[in-house]
Amino acid sequence: MAIEGGCLCGAIRYEITGDFAGAGVCHCRSCQYMTGGGPNYVALAPTPAFKVTKGQPKRYTRPGGSGGDITRVFCGECGTPLWSEGAFPFYPVKAGGLDDPSILEPQIHLWTSEAPPWHPIEPGRPAFPENPPFPPPAP
Ligand SMILES: [Zn+2]
Ligand SMILES: [Zn+2]
Repeated sequence: MAIEGGCLCGAIRYEITGDFAGAGVCHCRSCQYMTGGGPNYVALAPTPAFKVTKGQPKRYTRPGGSGGDITRVFCGECGTPLWSEGAFPFYPVKAGGLDDPSILEPQIHLWTSEAPPWHPIEPGRPAFPENPPFPPPAP
């Protein structure tokens, strides 16, 4: 069964066929800009499983924390941040765009070195100061 999502105004829709490779919470400074300040909750969709089903999103590319370019994909109409593209075999899809965000259980925290002191980081979850190894360690 496909997992579906899209932006707030409905101009962009996507679907993911298959399971997520994991879910995590990114605290990096770039993600703080893209979320408006909070941590960035993402699910990792393997790239072959991900497909845009409606609309033409906009893209913004700049170097990520580990050096490679990261392209942030968003709706040009309503501004909803949707997913990222880079030199990795999955797209980090932002939890807020999923039709049902409650299906996720973020397992790990990353880039905690850039988190402000008021970001929530649940005790007992693996937390990495920068990028974690991929695939993520089992919880
Ligand atoms: Zn939109
Ligand atoms: Zn980030």
